[in-house]
Amino acid sequence: MTTPSARLLIVGPQGSGKGTQGARIAAALGIPAISTGDMFRAAIAGKTPLGLQVQEVIDAGDLVPDELTSAVVRERLSETDAAGGFLLDGYPRNLGQVSDLDAFLTDRDEELTSVIELSVPRDESIARLTLRAQQQGRTDDTEEIIANRLRIYERETAPILDVYRERNIVDAIDGVGTLDDITSRVISALQARGLSADAVR
Ligand code: AMP
Repeated sequence: MTTPSARLLIVGPQGSGKGTQGARIAAALGIPAISTGDMFRAAIAGKTPLGLQVQEVIDAGDLVPDELTSAVVRERLSETDAAGGFLLDGYPRNLGQVSDLDAFLTDRDEELTSVIELSVPRDESIARLTLRAQQQGRTDDTEEIIANRLRIYERETAPILDVYRERNIVDAIDGVGTLDDITSRVISALQARGLSADAVR
């Protein structure tokens, strides 16, 4: 019996732990975790043409234009390692990107398996972001820029969940607890969607 491919999104406000959980879940499923934020940061660090193009926008905590972001994601999803499934972290981030992703997947006769919504109270996400700022020194983790990113999340990203809720593919997960507890919650939700236990190691 073949295991259905896992095509997953992980969505949550900054500081919800979606990067950490996304990587753990993708590793458990043997699929690539694809983080647009990480891809942009790598491009900036490597001073590539893409990096130079997006640096200012990212430093301000604003969104990179959809056309550019969706092109980066399409290219990444076309690589062979994403053929059997993927986990997208940080994309789509607004309704325009939802349409771009739909168009791409429809062309390939694919659809999303689950949208993991990681919820944490605002105080907790701000505390985690402040800690990350101290530990990693990200240029977009200052207090003012964090506030801008959280505003954008509420205004532009949270509405994408309504679209996916209508499709009945959202798994809302409590993002407070130990790393292992949260990973187990997600994995149980994915098993309930038919991803078999041996795929979910
Ligand atoms: P993240 O690590 O997901 O918080 O992303 C860091 C920054 O990269 C964001 O604040 C945006 O400036 C940019 N970025 C990441 N993903 C996207 C996206 N899907 N659309 C637009 N901008 C993005």
